[in-house]
Amino acid sequence: MEQGIIFDIQRFCIHDGPGIRTTVFLKGCPLSCAWCHNPESKQQNVQLSYRENHCVLCGECESICPQRVHQLVNNEHQVDFSRCTGCGKCIESCPVSALSLIGKTVTTDDIMDIVLKDADYYRASGGGITLSGGEPLFQPHFALALLKQAKRGRLNTCIETSGFCREADLRSVSEFTDLFLFDFKLSDEKLHRQYVGGELSKILKNLSLLNKLKKPVILRCPVIPGINDTQPHFQAIADLSVLECVQAVEIMPYHTMGAAKSLNIGREYLLNVPPADPETVKLWKSELLKMRCQKLME
Ligand code: SF4
Ligand code: SF4
Repeated sequence: MEQGIIFDIQRFCIHDGPGIRTTVFLKGCPLSCAWCHNPESKQQNVQLSYRENHCVLCGECESICPQRVHQLVNNEHQVDFSRCTGCGKCIESCPVSALSLIGKTVTTDDIMDIVLKDADYYRASGGGITLSGGEPLFQPHFALALLKQAKRGRLNTCIETSGFCREADLRSVSEFTDLFLFDFKLSDEKLHRQYVGGELSKILKNLSLLNKLKKPVILRCPVIPGINDTQPHFQAIADLSVLECVQAVEIMPYHTMGAAKSLNIGREYLLNVPPADPETVKLWKSELLKMRCQKLME
């Protein structure tokens, strides 16, 4: 039985594909989007999270940690995340739940036991299972095994992907995937490398593969003020919207949820951009419509 690492599983989701769904968040991502809203998904292995505003500086974690991750100096709790081996000792010792471990190893059966609890809701709503992340195809064997098992249970299946994956892996999972929620973040190769950290050409090639395979796609476009709210990028979205595989184009306005999460895991969050207000989002959509963007979601 395949095993993989997940960092969350959420039941009764209504925005990750049709109907009512269970979304499974696989840990690990090869990209480094500056605006990532799930920074805890980036690293594939289990990692420590520390919520500073919960800590009462009792010093229990400092005493118990064999790796000297925690140090209380002058009434300040210093955490060296890089030393943590994920043993979990400090988590149990903390009296106020300021510490936790993100990620756990599970089998496909563990996941399906949870997913199938809501089978009646999926049947009634046309829902099913969605694999998200991180990048689900960063654990291709686990993702494939989950999708196969879901299909054996006659569930509708979706994958939320950056498209930054091996073509062979995409091809294998496509056979067991009803809908791809496919990100399109930047249309300039240089900016893509700078803000996302991987080649755009690989992603576009994979999108074109899905088009060739006639697999339904919802194009998901995060829009970040000052970075990709530009005419050339909007035109690129409009151009892709005419692909036969694209069923809908969804604009995902930037929000700052990733900033606090980054702090909890000791990652730097470099973006300093305010979230997009509803009026701006309306403006973006009207720009896209002027460029003949098709299938734009409300
Ligand atoms: S999980 Fe273990 S190694 Fe990591 S900080 Fe806690 S006690 Fe130290
Ligand atoms: S055990 Fe919890 S409350 Fe005590 S110092 Fe560590 S993180 Fe803070």
